[in-house]
Formats: sequence, C-alpha cells, structure tokens
Amino acid sequence: MSAARQLRLILLGAPGAGKGTQARRLGEAFGLAQIGTGDMFRAAVAAESPMGLAAKEYLDNGELVPDEVTIGVVEERLHHDDARDGFVMDGFPRTSQQATAFDALLAKLKRRLSAVIELSVPRDELVRRLTRRWVCAHCNTSYNLLSAVPKVAGVCDRCGFLLVHRRDDDQEMVRHRLDVYDEKTAPLIAYYQGASLLRTVEGTKHIDEVFEDIAAAAGVPKEPTA
Ligand code: AMP
Repeated sequence: MSAARQLRLILLGAPGAGKGTQARRLGEAFGLAQIGTGDMFRAAVAAESPMGLAAKEYLDNGELVPDEVTIGVVEERLHHDDARDGFVMDGFPRTSQQATAFDALLAKLKRRLSAVIELSVPRDELVRRLTRRWVCAHCNTSYNLLSAVPKVAGVCDRCGFLLVHRRDDDQEMVRHRLDVYDEKTAPLIAYYQGASLLRTVEGTKHIDEVFEDIAAAAGVPKEPTA
C-alpha cells in the first residue's frame, strides 16, 4: 500500500470551485474512495429511495440537506471497504455540525485527516462556471464552455452519455447556493485552520496545475506514472 493510498482529504470550496473534478482525479490517481455527498444525494433522488425522496426538496431549492441525514449517509459510506485506505471528501462537511460530527466519527474509527484543501475561486468566476456547466447524467463528469469543453458538443468524453444542465445551476439558484456556502460552509476554513490542517490552493489555474498543487499540498509531490 503506497503512502498516497492512505491519504484522507477534504476538498473545501464553494459550488463550482472544481471539487468534483479534482476529487475524481485524486481518487483515480491515488486509489482513494471519492465521497461526493451531492452525487450520492442526486443518485438517491433519481432512484426515488426513501432518503432520496426526503432530500429532493432541499436539492431542488439549493438548501442543505439536514445534518443528521447527511452525517448518517457519510458514516454508512465510510464503512465501505474502498474507504478504508484513503478517501477524498467532495462537498462534505458543509456545516460546523457536520465538521464536528466527522471529527468524532474519524476518532471512533481511529483515522486521522491528512489535510483539508481549500479551492479558492472568486465569486464572479464561480457564477460564470456554474451557469455554463454541463454534467454527464451517467458518470457526473463536469464540463463547461470556458475551460473544460467536451470533444463532441453535449456528449461526455468519458462514457458517451448525454450532458445535462443541473437545475440548481440556474442563475438565481447559483447565487442562493453561494450565499448558503458563505453563511454555512465558509466558517469551516477557520475551523480547519485552527486544527492546522488547512491548505489553500488557487482554483483558477488550469485543471492540471490545480491537481498538481493539491497533490503537493497533500504531501504527494507529483502524479505517479502508470
Ligand atoms: P453539490 O453537488 O455538492 O453541489 O451538492 C448538491 C446539493 O446536494 C446541495 O445543494 C445540497 O442540497 C445537497 N448536499 C450535498 N452535500 C451536502 C452536505 N454536506 N450537507 C447538506 N447538503 C448537501
């Protein structure tokens, strides 16, 4: 088992900062479980499971799913085998209560966080990215017409499925989600700074450079060659 496989990372940042894209890449490069709570909730909504039905109204309105539900989902996911040797959290924690519950959960499992990486992107750039974002309906890969253009318009490069525009990426909803981030999630920056875990990475650079910067901030000098 390589040192990279034991990485336990949180990607912190506003909607549109690139957490999902980078989490996927980190997961693939270093064999980490990619734990995206937004992806998990969308899958539950699509499957019309009881949890999905409960979460739907929150997703539709750009509000956060209640902490007890979210923490329960993450706790269950962390027990899967693939999360034992390392994980990258994408979109969790998002509130102070989630962060303290996650600390307690990791302590119970005798696991320690390696680092919390904040992806920093100015608000006007986030709005630009999100309102132009297209997401694969099958594998969740994100595209936008600024920096990550699909090879064939409307089709996912990775799996060939159709790209869709998320309803919560409409202009008005985007502004609301960013306000929710500022109010509920941004305070976690200071929380993890206080725990000496926070590293800030400039999220406006090219996707490859952001990846290299995250890997370096997490203590992995460069992407391993296959
Ligand atoms: P995302 O794909 O991360 O932008 O998340 C989409 C939506 O899922 C959010 O707007 C929330 O409604 C819900 N969600 C995702 N992660 C969380 C979380 N950690 N806590 C509460 N709600 C969440």
